[in-house]
Amino acid sequence: MEKADIKSMTLPKLEAFCAQQGLAKFRAQQIFQWLHQKQADSFEQMTNLPASLRKTLAEICEISGISIRRKLVSQIDGTTKYLYEFADGQTVESVLMQYQHGYSLCISTQVGCRMGCRFCASTLLGLERSLTPAEMLNEVYMAGKDSGQKISSIVLMGIGEPLDNFDNVMDFLEILSSPQGLNLSLRHVSLSTCGLVDGIYRLMEKKLQLTLSISLHAPNDEIRSQTMPVNHKYPMDELLGACREYFKQTGRRISFEYALIEGVNDTPECAQQLSQKLKGMGAHVNLIPVNPVKERDYRRSSRDRIRRFQQILEQNHITATVRRELGSDINAACGQLRRDDKGGRSC
Ligand code: SAH
Repeated sequence: MEKADIKSMTLPKLEAFCAQQGLAKFRAQQIFQWLHQKQADSFEQMTNLPASLRKTLAEICEISGISIRRKLVSQIDGTTKYLYEFADGQTVESVLMQYQHGYSLCISTQVGCRMGCRFCASTLLGLERSLTPAEMLNEVYMAGKDSGQKISSIVLMGIGEPLDNFDNVMDFLEILSSPQGLNLSLRHVSLSTCGLVDGIYRLMEKKLQLTLSISLHAPNDEIRSQTMPVNHKYPMDELLGACREYFKQTGRRISFEYALIEGVNDTPECAQQLSQKLKGMGAHVNLIPVNPVKERDYRRSSRDRIRRFQQILEQNHITATVRRELGSDINAACGQLRRDDKGGRSC
């Protein structure tokens, strides 16, 4: 019989599981705290549970694990990139970055990705599988343990499309923010999507305090469809309609990611068009110099062009920042480390 993935259970799910086993409710709380506050990796460590119960739990449950397969530390700014490995040998990446206000961790939500964005290294090998809530939590717990730092914010911007793994991501967030767990406020979490409109509406219903980021990367359907296949299914009007509704319903400002690719989406006309599209929705635009991926011939825009692009947005009253680049010496573009490890060409 397959063992139950106890570390993936939210507290209500763990309570239901304990009830099925004929255990009192407070046992669920104890186990939950062992797993998520003390981050125990065996039932043996749960010393306030009777020995017989520990033995039974070990027979019917597994505690999902993670190991560090590779670790790269930037000589420039200390940014740390982890290549993690799970029990089945699959690997994903997380990146730990230091900001003024603390440490931020970028985590993966899937092994690979099926969204097919042309500029992204994560998608080159397709999707292997989605991560469980426990596996996403393990990315966070292990980075905290290995670095000895308190992680104060989390971005779901590593490998994978979070809204393509909706239920597991929701359980992950519930456990992460639970007062009985790490107790990390969702105000310090950003979820980035390439624009799965159905998922945005589902997320809206949850009324979470997290920041929603949309990977837009284009000012119109013509350009977006060339670089992001998801745009064929959910064209920009539909996507931005969902974003307006999301802002209206939740009051949370939406952040738009825009990777500038030379000669593709970085002209002053593009900036004007983008400004018109984003008017009146409290949008914040995050401009990113595209990270070159060897298999693709995209080049990043020059600093001058990026600055010009930003100015035009600001003239149109759209707030825009240029993302500070961290870890440029350690291959920090998402998906590249995993791909190289699997025998692809190195960048
Ligand atoms: N699937 C989600 C989250 C993972 S990608 C999404 O699409 O939002 C995280 C961010 O990195 C996205 O904004 C993505 O478009 C961007 N990205 C991917 N490849 C990039 C590259 N080569 N240069 C700059 N940004 C890139």
